Amino acid sequence: MAGPHEVLGMSRVLGIGTTEFLALYTDNGGTTLRSEADGPCVFLTASGCRVHPRRPLVCRLYPLGRMTDETGVERFGVFPAQPDCEAEAGHEGTVSSFLESQGVAPYLEWSRRYGELYRRMMGLLDRLDIQGKVDAGEGGGAAEAAPAGPGSAGSGQEPDRASHRAPDREPISSWQDIDASLAEYCAAKGSTPPREIDEAIALHLRAIGEWLDGLELQLGEVPNNPEGAREP
Ligand code: SF4
Repeated sequence: MAGPHEVLGMSRVLGIGTTEFLALYTDNGGTTLRSEADGPCVFLTASGCRVHPRRPLVCRLYPLGRMTDETGVERFGVFPAQPDCEAEAGHEGTVSSFLESQGVAPYLEWSRRYGELYRRMMGLLDRLDIQGKVDAGEGGGAAEAAPAGPGSAGSGQEPDRASHRAPDREPISSWQDIDASLAEYCAAKGSTPPREIDEAIALHLRAIGEWLDGLELQLGEVPNNPEGAREP
């Protein structure tokens, strides 16, 4: 699995934008890294991982796995060893010391913040009865409908299901595509998308938060936006 912040980081290692990265290297609507036909990850080479400096959280955690329940409470467990993996897992130390050694802190923080927004969005979609409309055939699946929209933050519109569709592939949600989302968001604000990765992620989270604010206002609710209280 790869979140939008991880897609951004890996795309910058390769010197390309997130739209191109998603089209070239991901499947399942941009949420999983593509594999070669015989199995290994598309970034695995004889000399190691091509995106190692910005490898995703799941790769940093291995052989640990992180699970979160619907309220965001997280637990860590140990994955069974992968048959093709040549790494040797030790049994010394603590989960905390392992996480620190792998530099996961910012990745966990971003993942928690996107997860928070995702849970907020799913609740909103239930209340807006978007799912019912999707089921009734207005187009797109839940996975497509749910993550769309941060580029139209603050517009007060329903999720627009904007996506980039490669032939014969599941559509890529605009939720995943930070460059495209921020280009649209910043154009509407008359600003320039930040070049620095952490700043771009923070602004993307803010854009999604503002978009959800608009939907909550549309429902006559008081926006509950933890991102709004954070510095961009
Ligand atoms: S660490 Fe392995 S699975 Fe993760 S991105 Fe790199 S090559 Fe792919």
